[in-house]
Formats: sequence, structure tokens, C-alpha cells
Amino acid sequence: METESYKRSSNATLKAPIGVQILVNNICNHSCFYCSSGAVQQEESSNKYSAMSNENAYEFVDIISRDINPYYAVCTGGEPTLSMKPLSALMMGFKQKNIPTHLNTNLTAVSGEEFNDLILLLKRCNSSVLTSLPHYDGAVYKKITSKDDINLFYNNLNSLISEDINITVNMVVHKLNHKDVYHTGKLLFEKYGLKNFAATPLVVSSNNLFPNKNIVLKPDELFDVFRDLLRLNSDLNMQVDCLEVIPRCSIPEDIRYNASGLFKRACSAGSSTLLIDYLGFIRPCSFFPEVNDDKYNILKTPFSEIWEYLKPYRDNEHISDECKTCYEIEDCNGGCRVFGVDKDGFTGSDSRITGPIFKTAKNEIEKLSPNNIYSFNKDMKFRKEQRDIYTFFNGQISNRSSIIFVTYGFKQFCENFIKETRNYFTLDDVVNAAGVENKEKITELMKYLLQKKYIYPANKHDLTTSSEPLGE
Ligand code: SF4
Ligand code: SF4
Repeated sequence: METESYKRSSNATLKAPIGVQILVNNICNHSCFYCSSGAVQQEESSNKYSAMSNENAYEFVDIISRDINPYYAVCTGGEPTLSMKPLSALMMGFKQKNIPTHLNTNLTAVSGEEFNDLILLLKRCNSSVLTSLPHYDGAVYKKITSKDDINLFYNNLNSLISEDINITVNMVVHKLNHKDVYHTGKLLFEKYGLKNFAATPLVVSSNNLFPNKNIVLKPDELFDVFRDLLRLNSDLNMQVDCLEVIPRCSIPEDIRYNASGLFKRACSAGSSTLLIDYLGFIRPCSFFPEVNDDKYNILKTPFSEIWEYLKPYRDNEHISDECKTCYEIEDCNGGCRVFGVDKDGFTGSDSRITGPIFKTAKNEIEKLSPNNIYSFNKDMKFRKEQRDIYTFFNGQISNRSSIIFVTYGFKQFCENFIKETRNYFTLDDVVNAAGVENKEKITELMKYLLQKKYIYPANKHDLTTSSEPLGE
């Protein structure tokens, strides 16, 4: 086995993004002042908004599954549940193509029978849900969303949790709500049994140039939010996250090297993910300005050509030289591109960057013990990229850090090893299979796979599953 072949590659070898976000429409029943989607309010004149047609939904599924073959697709909006027909066509179409889908929704656009239909769709497609709650209290919620429907949100959230649908509640944080992150998470945990909670700072993008920038958090306020998330994690064992990329160098060390390895997000714009709008236009990510040039339209231009236009993102052309020397580049990827973009294009790098980090991160994972038994993640999949490079995907929709690059030889080794050991092995088993002369490198590799959630200690993993790990 080529023991160092598992991470020496980069986005440049991707043949397509690992995940796609699909904007089903540009209409929403809420009007949050910070919205980045450019959505039109539902009450406004019908000719101001658009949604994907059913025909286009079928065509999107065909093109995306054939030319991109992503590990997952995220259906978003606007508010996608206001366009149930194309949304259902997309989700069912992807299910038939064996591409998992995930839904972003504010949970308040449909109710009653329609909501029951949505639950059925989610269950049929085994989809997870990302929803948004700006504040636990109805009055503040209304101030932010302009709607008085928090009770509908709580009812629908309760229904999804009762139906065992995997759901994450995200709170976009700004000056109006940042002090209530802990309380909101705790209430959702105690009253509804929510397990996954995120708090994400408001990003000022070229799409949401709202007048009052004073509403954006200062760094110290943001890091207090992170501390509140870590408290939710340690006090209540909630899975917590922040859904946007914060340059790792700007994060204080006590948070950056937290024991659970949280808040590692790398920019994936235009490389491992991209956004396709309801008309077929592709953007690097949802925070980039809308485009209307047919050369970026997946219905008009072959995807391989559009992928070439996005090559600078994969070649890291928008990453500063100082980031390229940083030890944390893999977990950060140079911060958020949007912070270095204005209407004229790229003007520099993320303004929050404080400078490269030149020390090895503290070890955040449990020690490998020769007697421990491990298994490969049952949700792990692989895809062939360019030349003899493959990606392994750990089943988590997060960003660039959900994949590692491996060679054909390494992929073959893993496939055979899983078959031979029935996915139940010790460190010594791996060393014996790969050759004892490689013991040191194998130990490093196992730590890496453990940290990246490709293997688990077997006692924490469901060994009774019939699902074969490492499917294509
Ligand atoms: S540019 Fe990158 S980091 Fe910023 S929002 Fe888009 S994907 Fe996230
Ligand atoms: S220097 Fe660049 S790569 Fe390093 S932590 Fe800061 S933003 Fe990330």
C-alpha cells in the first residue's frame, strides 16, 4: 500500500463538485433582513418571482446525475417548500439516481396536510433537514422575520423530530440575538429533544447589502457565541456547529483547538461545492452575485465547460500567498472568498485573516490503542476523479473536509481489507496487511482517518448494519 497516498492531492483533481446546492425558487414567506438569497416576498406581485419548472427539475436531475454525479444535493431557496411540485420532482429524481438529498426550509411555508406530504417525501428520500430559528421568543422572531408564525415553526419542528427525521436548527447570529444562543439551543433541546444546533454569523455579501452594517457581530461577540455553542456541547451533549467559514487564524486558541474538533470549515466555493439556480445558472456559492450569462448555464452549456471556467477556484488562485504557507490550510482553505469580493470581482483575501499559523495543531483525537477495534464508516463512498485519483466521502454534508483524496491503489487496499476483516479490525491488522515496515506511517494514517471520521472505534459504531461501507 502507498502509505502516504491518501491526502496528497487537492481540489485541482476533482472532476466535479462533491455536492451541489440547488435553488428551487426565489420566493419566501419570510423577509429576514439579512437574507442572502435575493428572495422575493410571497405577497409581492407574482411576476417578480420565479421557480424551477417541473420539466426543468427532471432535466436538472438528468444532467446533474450524469455530468456531476455528486455525493449529495441540497435543495434550497427562497423557501423551496413554496414550490412543492418541482421540489418533489428533484428529490424523488435524485433518490432514483441514488444521490442523497437534503432540504433547507424555514418550516413555516406549509402546514396541515401539505406538511404531512412533506414529511412523507422526506422519509421516502431519507433526507435530512436544515432549518432556521432566529430566536426562541416570538416577539424577537417576528422582528427578524416580519412574521408571526413561531408557533407553526415549533409545531412542525416537533413533528419532524417525532418522525425521527434528522434535523439541524441554525440560528443566524447578529446584534439582535447573539446573547441568546445558549438559551435558544437549551430550550430546543429540553422542550423538543433537538440534538443538532448551529449558530452562524451573519455574512455581509454582495447579495445582501442591507443598510445597517452595525448589526454584524464584532469578533469578540462572535467568539462568545462559539463559547456558548461549546457549552451546549459539553452541558447537554448537543452536536453544535457554525455553518460559515471563519479564518482559523482569527479564532482564539481556546476555541480553535477545542477538544471536540469543532468549527473546522474550509471554503468550498466553486471547487468542492457550487450553487445552481432555478434557471440553471451556476455560481461558486450562494453568497456570490447572481449571473445571467449562458456560458454558466447548465441547461445551455456542457457542465465540463462550466467546470473549466471555475478552474481558478480549484487551483487556489484566490488564496493569498501567506495562506499557502499556513499549517491550517487544509482545515480553513484561506477563509471566505466572499469577504474578498465586491461588484468588480476579487479585490483581495478575507479581511478577517490575521496571518499564517506555523505550529502543529494539538492532538484533538483519542489515542490509538493497538487493542482497540475499529470499523470503516458505513456511509463512506468513493468516486473516481481525474487520472488515478479517487475521493472518499465520509457521508457528512459539511464542506471540503468531508472528502479525502486517495490513489487507486489505496482504494483497492481498503476495499479488499474491508472484505477480509468484515470491517472489524485492530491497528495491528492494518499493519500486518500493509507491511510491518510501514508501522509508523500506518499509525499516522489511522489517526488521520479517525480524525476525519472515516473509521470509528467499533464499540461506538453500529456493526449490525447490513450497509456495505465504501460503495460507489
Ligand atoms: S465563499 Fe466559501 S466560505 Fe464564503 S460563503 Fe461561499 S463557500 Fe462559504
Ligand atoms: S492564514 Fe489563511 S489558511 Fe491560515 S488560518 Fe488564516 S485564513 Fe486560514
